[in-house]
Amino acid sequence: MSHKISVMLHTPAHSGLVGALTYACDTLPPPGSLVRAPLGRRELLGVVWDHPMRVDDETAEPMQLRAISSTLHGIAPLSSNWRQLVQFAATYYQRSVGEVAVAALPSQLRDLSSEQWARRLKRKPKATIAYESAAPDIPAPTTEQTQVLADIDTHPGPFLLFGNTGSGKTEVYLRAAQAVLAHSPQAQILVMVPEINLTPQLEARFRTRFCPQWGANCLVAMHSGLTPAQRLKNWLAAHSGEARIVLGTRMAVFASMPHLQLIVVDEEHDPSYKQQEGARYSARDLAIYRGQLEGAKVILGSATPSLESWHHSRPATPSEPAGRYMRLAMPSRIGQGALPLVRRVDMNRQPYQTVFSNHLLDAMRERVTRGEQILVLLNRRGYAPVLSCHDCGWKSECPHCSAYRVFHKLDRTLRCHHCGFTQPVPRACPSCGNLDISPLGRGTEQLEEHLAELLADVRRPDGQPIRIARIDADSTRLKGELERQLAQVHAGAVDVLVGTQMIAKGHDFRRVTLVAALNPDGALFSSDFRAPERLFSLLMQAAGRAGRDAAMQTASPCEMWVQSFHPLHPLFEALKQHDYPAFAEQQLKEREQATLPPFSFQALVRAEARTQEAAQSFLNAARDAGAALADELLVDLYPAVPMTIQRVANMERAQMLIECTSRKVLQRFLAHWQTDLHALRGTHKQVMRWAIDVDPLAI
Ligand code: ADP
Ligand code: ZN
Ligand code: ZN
Repeated sequence: MSHKISVMLHTPAHSGLVGALTYACDTLPPPGSLVRAPLGRRELLGVVWDHPMRVDDETAEPMQLRAISSTLHGIAPLSSNWRQLVQFAATYYQRSVGEVAVAALPSQLRDLSSEQWARRLKRKPKATIAYESAAPDIPAPTTEQTQVLADIDTHPGPFLLFGNTGSGKTEVYLRAAQAVLAHSPQAQILVMVPEINLTPQLEARFRTRFCPQWGANCLVAMHSGLTPAQRLKNWLAAHSGEARIVLGTRMAVFASMPHLQLIVVDEEHDPSYKQQEGARYSARDLAIYRGQLEGAKVILGSATPSLESWHHSRPATPSEPAGRYMRLAMPSRIGQGALPLVRRVDMNRQPYQTVFSNHLLDAMRERVTRGEQILVLLNRRGYAPVLSCHDCGWKSECPHCSAYRVFHKLDRTLRCHHCGFTQPVPRACPSCGNLDISPLGRGTEQLEEHLAELLADVRRPDGQPIRIARIDADSTRLKGELERQLAQVHAGAVDVLVGTQMIAKGHDFRRVTLVAALNPDGALFSSDFRAPERLFSLLMQAAGRAGRDAAMQTASPCEMWVQSFHPLHPLFEALKQHDYPAFAEQQLKEREQATLPPFSFQALVRAEARTQEAAQSFLNAARDAGAALADELLVDLYPAVPMTIQRVANMERAQMLIECTSRKVLQRFLAHWQTDLHALRGTHKQVMRWAIDVDPLAI
């Protein structure tokens, strides 16, 4: 054993180790090699690292060190760019390098034993399947597309492609990818989408475009819906360079791609790009970093960009230089499908507890009679958010959370959407025995039922009764169910689709001419400063579902209806004009005045304990420990507060906000402060878990 190497392992959380351990070996595997190394009585997957952050056993002689168990043969070492990406992500998001490195690898690399691995290597690769399909119909680019593509070709980027829904952004991605593939025989492309249910559609479009020329193996998917075996196979295809295009969700940002030259982040504003556990990374932000690192171009695309990206792509003004991104605009919709007319209903003028105003109902009847489709959006699943007793005031609280259990009528359960606790609906009030307990408020289930009654007498053009469907997390719990239901909508088997935000994203429903948002007011007055931004983009996306087909708009223009108690709110005014820039400008002005992101940088520390006091006292002790340094660096440490939903699954949750006008300084503070937090954990034994969330999306 003549050498000492540093190996990144996923060491247990909060062990205080950064993940790099020193091992002995006879022959030095090159950095980036995958190895198995013993830790305690276990054997873990690790990556040989070149620059350990801290060698835990610097003084030990190679003779005293344990030896690595084996090297995973047949896999080329991970590139230094890949290692740097991982190292950066770990440092930036305050996690261990080993954790991020191992989490970024397919689980089978971890789980297969050496024998299994050897067997897998021996398996003959399947021959390339010929892709049987005619050369695709490639539309000639529009003037806007031509301009945008020329800009992408000549500038280094990163680019923010600000294009209306249906303006042909995807076509731009396809053409930019085509250019990269044609330009270099090895070049690889990474395309990311926010949600797993959007991958099949995009995958199909990429396949028809590229497989005839580059073969069926030119594209692989990467998302959590794959089996471990598929994931390994696709990962290896990308790692070996065989797959030229990787299409995936946020996890794909860590795909090993030795010849990466283009990264596309579609719907870049989508919160799904932020990982919500472990290393809470933003795949969009890492894409920008990775692009820079690898010299790959990055295109962020959206009809409603995040305010961060909008700000980063601002044009120069007399007082301020331009942002770092290049903004490319495609304002026109293809095929002249006009954006819908936005109609606001003032709910103050409607009878108490109106669900659908009469005007809206009439409009819906008229359209389904003509064979057009309607989307009804309500961001609340279940039948009713609360069940209550009118006699004694009992409400269906969750015994384990500070939240109500939702009434689901279809299976007659009370279900907690936070901890999952489910019970049959009681026959009588559990507190006073009153038989008259009833739902308060409404969710998608109830809406579906209610609409069936309201539209019972309406007929489709073929004389059949209309069909109503519902798509939300409940109706699509079973695998394949969402695809099946979406296919039905596409096939025209559904006239009215009721659903949560799931139906607003990305789907290309051709026959939809009316979209209704029933109760969007909550976000207007939320304590989360990002709520208006999310609402606006949701409504713009939803509006984008309507009128995608000009041929469907002969009878009357397509419409988006918004029922609100605050119809004159500036957000709805901007929506009416389809004016994202106006909305963004107004929001950014507010953010600047309040020094909120993107004009400041934030991190959250969250802690969980059996009692709120324990969680808060840990955070406040951490605040005391960091106070001097924070003062010096001009970092603001706010007092600990309970989280919005304070208790989940019997765990009290508290959080503390850290804010600074400089990203670098905030990073410096967090790096030092980590040590305090780890140390305090030792004296605050009641704290079950704590975590830092850098650039948090929900506060
Ligand atoms: P986005 O991604 O911005 O929503 P898409 O790329 O999906 O837009 O384009 C919307 C529709 O217009 C699609 O049906 C697409 O096939 C079509 N399309 C895109 N570019 C062109 C073009 N240059 N000529 C004709 N049709 C196009
Ligand atoms: Zn009661
Ligand atoms: Zn609960």
